[in-house]
Amino acid sequence: MLSQVVELIEQKRRFAITSHVRPDGDSLGSSLGLYWLLRALDKDVEVIMRDAVPHAYEKLPGALEVRVTPSVDRSYDAVFVIECSDITRPGLIDLDKQLVVNIDHHSTTALFGTINWIDSTASAVGEMIYNLCKATGVRVTREIAECVYTALITDTGSFHYSNTSERTFKVASELVRAGVKPAKISQAVFSNYPWSKIELLAEVMTTVKRDETGRVAWMHQTLEMQQRAGASEEDADGFVNYPLTCGSVEAVALLKECSPGIYRTSLRSKGDVNVARIAEKFGGGGHRNAAGCTLRGDLEEAKRTIVRLLQDAVEHRNGDRDDSQAAA
Ligand code: 5GP
Ligand code: MN
Repeated sequence: MLSQVVELIEQKRRFAITSHVRPDGDSLGSSLGLYWLLRALDKDVEVIMRDAVPHAYEKLPGALEVRVTPSVDRSYDAVFVIECSDITRPGLIDLDKQLVVNIDHHSTTALFGTINWIDSTASAVGEMIYNLCKATGVRVTREIAECVYTALITDTGSFHYSNTSERTFKVASELVRAGVKPAKISQAVFSNYPWSKIELLAEVMTTVKRDETGRVAWMHQTLEMQQRAGASEEDADGFVNYPLTCGSVEAVALLKECSPGIYRTSLRSKGDVNVARIAEKFGGGGHRNAAGCTLRGDLEEAKRTIVRLLQDAVEHRNGDRDDSQAAA
């Protein structure tokens, strides 16, 4: 819990921060927010990730200092693991040999840390990092504010999703007071794409289908499409949301081939349709309305399987409310 995290920070001095593979706005914004917080306390700290910082987050303060490494190859007093469902999510060898502090806002996260600070009421881990500033008495600098604001807008879909609360706006307002320029951050994150992303979007959108009810949609991306568009892995980020902008669509899947016959699958839904349950069946996870997993084998068969499960989830929405977050 929070008090244990504060105590640990007071007592130790050499820290690392990490988050999940293919980091996103919350994982990077929160990791870098915590980085600046610890720097403000004069701690020895570095952010280590298995994967490089995606283009959309390169302008975050501290992004250039993120060290990409396959293993925890130095010794630390403690390693903060940000928004990970289990100890394997960061994809770092030897992480289990460290003193781990688990910080997450997924209610389903495993309690794998020596200290576990989980707040499933937080819209993003960024909100928790803001609270940690308050708890440690660290002034919210412009650097911290920009990182935390990025976490908020990416995990709440720019304050669109159901995880957006009064507290989210309150924190956002404090961050703007601390120097954040909302238009500048939104532009850097959402309006700074390479053209390859647009070309890839054009390809992927030709595959979109929906069932006869109009409530379930699906699409796919092949390695060939990615090559034709000259696109990177991360260029497909966000595509899965488009079909959901249609009023009738309540659940959607994007199957993205990441190596031959292996499909990273993104699932999204509206309201009480739970896609996390589906992702979990395939060893993945996430939130009720945003989840992911990996499927293997024949594309058409994988699609049929996932579409059936989505149809089932739409039909038998059970309103289990263990995790009302819409965001990642
Ligand atoms: P995306 O579709 O953007 O890759 O993932 C959406 C959300 O689902 C992520 O932010 C994360 O919460 C969750 N997620 C995606 N892939 C995995 C996975 O392989 N394992 C787990 N536990 N969660 C995942
Ligand atoms: Mn998050």
